[in-house]
Amino acid sequence: MTELSEKILSSYQARKTKKQKTAFIEFMKSEIPSLRVEEGGFLKSRNLVVGDVKRARVVLGAHYDTCAVLPFPNLITPKNFPFLILYGILIALPFIALMVGTELLLNYLTDNFYFAYYTALLVFLVSYFGVFMLGFPNKHTVNDNTSGVITLCEMMEICREQGIHDIAFVFFDNEEMGLIGSSYFRKLHKSEMKDTLLINFDCVSDGDHMLFVLNKPASERYEKAFAEAFVSSEKKTVHLEKAQNTYYPSDQKGFPVSVAVSAMKKARVLGLYLDRIHTKKDTVMDETNLAYICDGTTRLLTKLSENIP
Ligand SMILES: [Zn+2]
Repeated sequence: MTELSEKILSSYQARKTKKQKTAFIEFMKSEIPSLRVEEGGFLKSRNLVVGDVKRARVVLGAHYDTCAVLPFPNLITPKNFPFLILYGILIALPFIALMVGTELLLNYLTDNFYFAYYTALLVFLVSYFGVFMLGFPNKHTVNDNTSGVITLCEMMEICREQGIHDIAFVFFDNEEMGLIGSSYFRKLHKSEMKDTLLINFDCVSDGDHMLFVLNKPASERYEKAFAEAFVSSEKKTVHLEKAQNTYYPSDQKGFPVSVAVSAMKKARVLGLYLDRIHTKKDTVMDETNLAYICDGTTRLLTKLSENIP
């Protein structure tokens, strides 16, 4: 890992509050003088951009904002839809119980149906979104998404050393609030991103199964290049999947030509899964993942630049 990556890992893991983000941004500006802040949109997102998006052939992205700490893991099973639905219901149950309890109690106390109904609904929304979005910042965010941030930093250094040009880098804000920073970036760079490949790294440091989710245009144009650049090894298994039948909710969503990269674990019944994120156990930085992803991405970028007419 570069010195920059080490510093981010040791001193800038919590990036949720405005103050924490500002400290991170100031640090990044001091380390990378060409870094620009693009601020605007809903929640005044601050995306950090390095390089010229207009001229870029490929844009590498990763969200830098981090989440609230949750009492339960945010389990994601990209290929197991029944489990995803069941788990979603299971998590919502306590909030629904709270809502129903509130309504019954208020109905009993006030005998006013509308008051009880709307107050209970408000209690549900505030408690649900409060826990997920407005809770205490998680201090441990190694996988989600310090790993993606570090991947971009490492790739910046590799591209500089190897003279790979025409690559832009963007650190998205407010992914955890609903992919808000990346949607502002897309609005700002709409025509520039129409034909440009976006590769987004989110949760890449905990798990030996490398998952690549390609949307339709990306799979038509780049599937072969990805398959050649990322080959399964003794330790790492590659899964090239299509976005139409794979659930991976991150910033690549909505971009015209996009690929999501993440690291998964695999179990017999669950299939590919991601655990530990959004909890205090999010502490795993498998550097062999970082090396694997950076090597493959470098091969891919080199290959794509050879194919430029
Ligand atoms: Zn994430």
